[in-house]
Amino acid sequence: MASAKEHMLIGAGVAAVGWMLYCKIVERPLDLGEIVLAAGVGLIGGLVPDLFEPAIHLNHRQFFHSYLAAGLLTGANHHVSQNANLRAETRTAIHLASLGFMSHLVADAQTPKGLPWA
Ligand SMILES: [Zn+2]
Repeated sequence: MASAKEHMLIGAGVAAVGWMLYCKIVERPLDLGEIVLAAGVGLIGGLVPDLFEPAIHLNHRQFFHSYLAAGLLTGANHHVSQNANLRAETRTAIHLASLGFMSHLVADAQTPKGLPWA
């Protein structure tokens, strides 16, 4: 089981790389401040599952650590990406935080305990 520190680092790394890939795709120049900001948002996202369901016992993984939550979050991100009423920065922040959240679930899924379906 990854520690909180590991989840933060994984979330930050995934979001930073995600941001750099996005910049590459849209041909946006890389900005160190934006990369650090993306990493910070991913770091927070990587902590969210354990904020809702703290890892205080072996069976702490419930809804917010589930494949159902991952699916719902994916659908929500699709909806966000289609919502023209949201500013681009808001959509990006939501996507980066979600990357952090998902990185937490992927890391936890690699353990023998795995993730619950719902
Ligand atoms: Zn967890």
